Formats: sequence, C-alpha cells, structure tokens
Amino acid sequence: MLDNIKKLSQILGNTFGAKDIKNVLSEFFIQNYGISALDIYVFDDTTKSLRDFSKNWLYIEEVCDKYTTGQLYSYFETLCYKNYIEENNFLYYGLHRGSKLIGMLKMDVGFIDTENLISFLDLAIYIISLKIQNVILSEKMQKNIDFHDSMKNIAKIIETQYELNYIIPLIGEMIDKFVSNHLIYIFIRSETDKNYRLVWPGACKDEKIYGLLSVLTPSSDCVMTADKKIGLFPLVTEGKLLGCIVAKSTDGKLNEKEVEYIEQLTNQAATTIDRANVYAEILKHATLDALTGFYNKRQLEERTKQEVSGAKRKNKPLCAIMIDIDFFKKVNDTYGHAVGDIVLKTVAHIIKSQLRDYDIAGRYGGEEFTILLPFTTIAEARMVAERLRFAVEKKLIDISKVVPDMPEKNINVTISSGVHQLQPGEDENELIQKADKALYEAKANGRNKVVVYDIQSKV
Ligand code: GH3
Ligand code: MG
Ligand code: MG
Repeated sequence: MLDNIKKLSQILGNTFGAKDIKNVLSEFFIQNYGISALDIYVFDDTTKSLRDFSKNWLYIEEVCDKYTTGQLYSYFETLCYKNYIEENNFLYYGLHRGSKLIGMLKMDVGFIDTENLISFLDLAIYIISLKIQNVILSEKMQKNIDFHDSMKNIAKIIETQYELNYIIPLIGEMIDKFVSNHLIYIFIRSETDKNYRLVWPGACKDEKIYGLLSVLTPSSDCVMTADKKIGLFPLVTEGKLLGCIVAKSTDGKLNEKEVEYIEQLTNQAATTIDRANVYAEILKHATLDALTGFYNKRQLEERTKQEVSGAKRKNKPLCAIMIDIDFFKKVNDTYGHAVGDIVLKTVAHIIKSQLRDYDIAGRYGGEEFTILLPFTTIAEARMVAERLRFAVEKKLIDISKVVPDMPEKNINVTISSGVHQLQPGEDENELIQKADKALYEAKANGRNKVVVYDIQSKV
C-alpha cells in the first residue's frame, strides 16, 4: 500500500494541468484497482457550483444531463460529512482539505470488490486533494502573474520532493535568486508549542524579526515594517499557520513586484510544506505500532543496529531493557482482549512517560517491549528498569468503560525486565539476546523483578 502511495505521489508530482492529472489518476486506478473510469469534479467557491476539473472547468450542467447533475450535487452535499458513497456501481470519494470539501472523485467500479480501493483512498486522498487544490490555485494564478513560468519551474521542483529538509533550502534559494538585495529567512512553527524555529539559513540575529513573528495569526496578510525594509509572509494552509518567510532588504524598500512574487511563492511553499508534513505522518504510521505508538519490530531492529554502531563509534555505553508483562494471558482470558489491549496501551504509556527524548522504545512482540538507552551505564539502566517496574505495579488501570459488568473497576499488572549493557565485541543480536536471557531469569525467579545479565556467565 505504501509503495502505491509513493508511486502515486511520484506520478502526480510530474503532472501539470487538470487534464494531465485526470489522465494519470485514471490510468493509475484502472491499472492498480480495476476501476473502469474516473471523473473529477471540483467546487467553485465564487459561483458556488460544481465544475468538471478536466474538461476546461465546464459547469457540470454543461457536461451532464439534468438528472445526473442533480444527483452529483446531492452526493456532493452528503460528502461534506462522509468520506465516500457507494451507489449503483459507482464510488464517490470526497476531496477534503482540512474541514473543507473542495470536490469529489467519481469512479466507475462496476462489480469489483472496493475494500482495497477504499482503504487506499483513505490514505491517498490527502495527496490527491492537495495536488488538485494546487492546480486550482496555480490555474487561478496564471491568469494574473506575468512571471508564472518561473513559478511553474519552482513548483515543479518543490512538488516532486517530500523531505522537508530538502524542500526548505530549495525554497530559500529560489527566493534569494529572484529577489536580489534581500536576506531571506524561513521559520517553521511548531504545532505543539507554537514556537518558531529558524530553518533557513543558519542564523538570524535581527531581534526586530523575532518580535514581529509573535504578531502573526493564521489570517494575517503580509506584515511589513513602516520603513518597508522587512516583510513577513505567513505560511498558511487551511487556517493553519505553519511558519513564515521573512525578506529583509539590504538597500531600499521591498517593491510591489517583489512583495507579489514572494506572496505567490509563500502560498506554493505552504501547500508543499503541509504535504510534506502529511507524508511524514503517513510514513510514521508505517513504522510505528498502531496500538502503542512504539516502533514496530522491523523498525526496532533497524534502530538497534544504528544505536549499536553509534555507541561503538562514539565509544559510549548503550543498554537494552527487555520487558514482558506478567501473566498477561490471564488478563486476556479473564477480561477479554479489549482489556488486554488497554493494559498494553497503559504499560506503553507509562514506559514512554519515564524515558528521555533520545531513548528508544519498541514493541518486540505481543506483550514484550524493548527499550534502548544510549549513553547509559548498566547501573543507571537498572534504575530505569526498577523505576518502570514500580510505576507499572502501582498503576490502577481503569477497565470499567470496556467491561462495565465486571465486579472489578480497576486492575493492575506487573512487568519483568532483563537488562544488559553492550560489551566490547558484541553485536545487536547479542545485546538483545542477553537482555532476553536476563528477562527469562526474572520470570523464573518469581516475576515483577529486574534482573541484570551476568557478564561473568559463560552462556
Ligand atoms: P508470563 O508471565 O510468563 O509472561 O506469562 P504470560 O501469560 O504473559 O505469557 P505468554 O507469552 O504465554 O502470553 C502472552 C499473551 O499475550 C498471549 C497472547 O494472547 C497475548 N497477546 C499478544 N499480543 C496481544 C495483543 O496485541 N493484544 C492482546 N489483548 N493480547 C495479546
Ligand atoms: Mg511473552
Ligand atoms: Mg508475559
């Protein structure tokens, strides 16, 4: 599925114009999901009407009969609060951007099984909607900007990239090239703490700029200083303030053309950054375990390899803790799997809350977790494991919402852990195996225990 997402992103990245996109999307869905035809309708805010995206934006009443037109409007209204509608061998899938419905896809699905197609669309619709919105924006732009050719080039470069680390310098350099005699800065705003972080170039020492950043809101237009030497261009999509591009003139004022140019580019950049964030989110889901939010086994193995080679290179200690929930089968058997899942989530949450930012937590198997502690000696790792053991032991887990009929409202579980510090000459497999051996001993010695692997032992 992820491969298909990548494939789709790539081919969409190389398309321009509505017709091109429709052809590429049709071909993709015909080949990969067996549909027989695809249409794209977009909603025009100005005229409040549906238009055919790929047929020169004709109003649907110009391309469809009265009955179909009525039907399309009614489906469109329903899609405001639903992802898709399946009816009469057609699938209608809404093109949402944030809370706004910008259009819909109509697919002739005949009698094919649509389950795969729908789960793919659930993920891919972000990318498709963004692309279509991009085209709507750029088609609007083309009408009134005389330097749209250069814009298109920039759009092409940044649209085919998904890595923020790669996109940001490109945007910075492009603006630099077109707006001479200015210093350009790009700031990204954290969604969690709302602070701005300078991401391009390396440094900005102008205090005035930092002061102005706090004035920006998602509905701000460009903010200029009175002398017109500094302009702040907010990066906004769908009411979200993602960051800001700052231009500071080194001689004279920013002229109108420059302001217009940076504004257009900022719009383009905002959509691209938003898409890069969405892409990062999709990737995250592919590498994280859905239930606990920890790394899944594959990713965990990858990270263990990296951490082991990092520790060796830097000559720093590295410890692994293997954790297994005690008598977990009994929890499942007594209260059912749903309670088992809550217990797993709760234990994962406790583990996460006790770790440092650079510690790594992964789900090794069903109810087994692996923790990697870089820059940590065995004495410290034992303390961490002990702290976790205690935190889990004293936690009362509320199960009343899932099994209201059970006499117990809360339950508690315990964990056993094995700890090992990487020794010279050991590789990632030995690190994990030895921690696992210690865990086995903790189980044999009565559970709810931490055992450190005995490096003197010969086995
Ligand atoms: P011990 O103290 O020796 O570890 O006993 P245990 O019962 O925890 O050990 P065992 O490995 O026999 O049982 C693990 C159980 O975990 C078996 C399996 O049904 C359950 N399990 C594995 N993955 C999940 C999951 O994702 N959700 C739930 N609810 N249960 C799971
Ligand atoms: Mg187990
Ligand atoms: Mg267990």
